[in-house]
Amino acid sequence: MAGYTHLFVPGPTNVPETVRQAMNMPMEDMRAPDYPQLVNGLFVDLMKVYRNETGRAFIFPSSGTGAWEAAIANTLNPGDRVLMSRFGQFSLLWVDMAQRFGLDVDVVDTEWGTGVPVDIYAERLAADKEHRIKAVFVTHNETTTGVTSDVAAVRAALDAAKHPALLFVDGVSSIASIDFRQEEWGVDCAVSGSQKGFMLPPGLAFLSVSQKALAANKQAKQHRTYFSFEDMIRANDTGYFPYTPAVQLLRGLRAALDLLLDEGLDNVYARHNRLAQGVREAVKAWGLQICAKGEKWHSDTVSAVIVPDGIDSTEIVRRAYHGYQTSLGVGLNKVAGKVFRIGHIGWINEVMMCSALAAAEMALLDCGVKIQAGSGVGAAVEHYRQSARAAVAKA
Ligand code: PLP
Repeated sequence: MAGYTHLFVPGPTNVPETVRQAMNMPMEDMRAPDYPQLVNGLFVDLMKVYRNETGRAFIFPSSGTGAWEAAIANTLNPGDRVLMSRFGQFSLLWVDMAQRFGLDVDVVDTEWGTGVPVDIYAERLAADKEHRIKAVFVTHNETTTGVTSDVAAVRAALDAAKHPALLFVDGVSSIASIDFRQEEWGVDCAVSGSQKGFMLPPGLAFLSVSQKALAANKQAKQHRTYFSFEDMIRANDTGYFPYTPAVQLLRGLRAALDLLLDEGLDNVYARHNRLAQGVREAVKAWGLQICAKGEKWHSDTVSAVIVPDGIDSTEIVRRAYHGYQTSLGVGLNKVAGKVFRIGHIGWINEVMMCSALAAAEMALLDCGVKIQAGSGVGAAVEHYRQSARAAVAKA
């Protein structure tokens, strides 16, 4: 087939050419005398992306799920009570992991399309006078439904209750794309992965932790070996890893961090917001709705578009793939067949989003959804023209 195949799933995301080139290298010695020059710089800049000033960061050769596991295994004890909420496939899987680790999970189920129920968290924390809750979990961006939750509000709830619980955040589809401030929000364990906002292939898990999480590590009795903070810290402090690192991905990470920091994090967040807003305008123009139930939940990295009754969203995704060489995201779990997802995360721009919307529009029409050809693309084009004018005027 001619031309590029277009990737608009919410991870893995498009890998910039400079990052790809940085990984196209002869194999290197991960114990070379000058290897720490690479490694030390990665930690410094990774912490800048997390806006973590006083803690430390870990890089594990795994997918993001490994960082979930590292966070739990290194800071909590079996039987510890934790407060979690479930409103999509990823928050659901994190609950499942916590239960399998033998934690005493207080799960708040909320409607899919909404996010972390801060009011309920605040009530539970205020009522917990004995401080039995050891950690509070937040899925910052639920990739299944395109819902972003308010981490700062959860921090405020913890502070209002003068509660000492650790704050865990899943930022796999938010960090490096949506505003995230670990230090300011008092986040103790912040999880991410390489294949989304970091614009790399899958294969690295990032975990950025506070001093409080490092103190909790000293008391935590869960079994851990591969994901042990202690082993990592001992090796990382010398500029190396306790086992073979993913050397090519680390070279790619160097290039990706340079791109993020050169663009400027605030500009990266603003770009994601502009692109997401254009997608939301397109969905409105189609006469359809997104899964996020209201503006406060809107995600700037992924939109889950609800298809009309009687239409199978998986067919739309299939049609876009086979007909137009474009990958859109399928619906997962409870929303399988009901939504398709458009990823607007990572190394993307306005014109790329217009092509995603054009492919979605053609696939929707092919599958019998009654929309006006060009309506969504037209609405996005208008939004992007206006926001580009504003950006040029500001420059
Ligand atoms: N958390 C969120 C919000 C995700 O979107 C994903 C993956 O898409 C994960 C966790 C799991 O990450 P991984 O597939 O890299 O293990």
